[in-house]
Amino acid sequence: MNDSCIAAVKIDQDLCSRCAVCYSLCPFEAIERRSEDGRLRIDIQKCQVCGICYSSCPSAAIDMAYYDYDDLIGNVQELRVQEKADTLVVMCRGNTANKDEVKEILSQNGLEGCGHISIRVPCAGRIPTDFIFKSLNLGFQRIVSVQCQDGFCRMKEGTGIETRRLMLSKAVLKQLGFAEDSLIMIKHSRKAVWISKECVGCGKCYFICPYEAILAEPFSSPRVLTDKCVGCGACQLVCPHHAIQVKGFEFDTILNSYQRLASKMKASNKAPAIMVFSCQWSEYSALDDPLKLLKEHNAIVLEVPCFKGLDPVHMINALRSGFDGVMAVICPAKDCKLQKGRDTSERQLEVLLSIIERYGLRDRFEVHELSPRCEGEFDRRFRDFIQKISTLSRCGRDAQGGM
Ligand code: SF4
Ligand code: SF4
Repeated sequence: MNDSCIAAVKIDQDLCSRCAVCYSLCPFEAIERRSEDGRLRIDIQKCQVCGICYSSCPSAAIDMAYYDYDDLIGNVQELRVQEKADTLVVMCRGNTANKDEVKEILSQNGLEGCGHISIRVPCAGRIPTDFIFKSLNLGFQRIVSVQCQDGFCRMKEGTGIETRRLMLSKAVLKQLGFAEDSLIMIKHSRKAVWISKECVGCGKCYFICPYEAILAEPFSSPRVLTDKCVGCGACQLVCPHHAIQVKGFEFDTILNSYQRLASKMKASNKAPAIMVFSCQWSEYSALDDPLKLLKEHNAIVLEVPCFKGLDPVHMINALRSGFDGVMAVICPAKDCKLQKGRDTSERQLEVLLSIIERYGLRDRFEVHELSPRCEGEFDRRFRDFIQKISTLSRCGRDAQGGM
């Protein structure tokens, strides 16, 4: 983190009552309490921007740069009217990828066909009870909270805190006469899926999995242990036959999403065309408001659950497909939410850089370690990157590696 970091989470000392609720709940021990007067301060270097303090503060003394509740409620209301939705789905960013998957989750839970809109937050634990009541007041018949499974919360305590909050809210809603299904909790976490017909039994996935989530018994095919799999994607990266893939982030899903757009963006003549691969936890603003970025620039952002599962083929292929520059945004080592197997991503990055160098494309590719804790940091780096790419001539690019 640099000196110019604008903290994304702040305590307003004038509003703070020194109750220390935030201090006792912060899962990362990022809040300090001064013994003389009880004054609380956030150590932004330790903060993981989970928002648990924000949703818990009874004095509304904590400010967050992302997901301001008034904005969230405003957006939800606008979408509700547009889509004529009766159900609001609130998902943690760690468990849902696209519209089809939300529909699948809803139908698995007997809610198929309900008119819904969905919003995503970094952690379920940052949704306060207030938000639930306000949303029901807007006219939604039900709120569905899709939380990561117990033990799989990337913010350690988010799922546990939100589960307790929602159980309490449910009891209050019942007393107020709301229907039993006005608040539904679903636990869901992303897992690797093994595709038996593609598997040749090489066992590479078994050896790479840092979470011991693959069972390989003699003379039988490997099996994903869903109670251990965290969906990091390390197995997907090494499988030569794409026989094991993380749902929602399959090789072809990622490939199709940028290849389809590459030719369109190239044709738009709004050079340069930029592709950003980003770890889900390293950046929020571009991932959650991609339209903002797309409107202003000729760029797309593609998120991945963890850098260790991102195939370097995509980065090279993105440049071959017509993107003028590719940026990879990853978490600094200390912030990685899937710490095990961190060495895999480091090795992978080394290999990627050497290949890119060999192709003569090094100046068109940058890796940035970022965290949402510094507001505007991604925007600054992104703009600098675009500026740099703009100065590289297209004919210079055509000469590179025969692209
Ligand atoms: S946002 Fe999360 S990590 Fe940061 S201070 Fe608040 S509770 Fe702690
Ligand atoms: S996704 Fe990660 S944790 Fe799950 S089986 Fe593959 S390597 Fe193991």
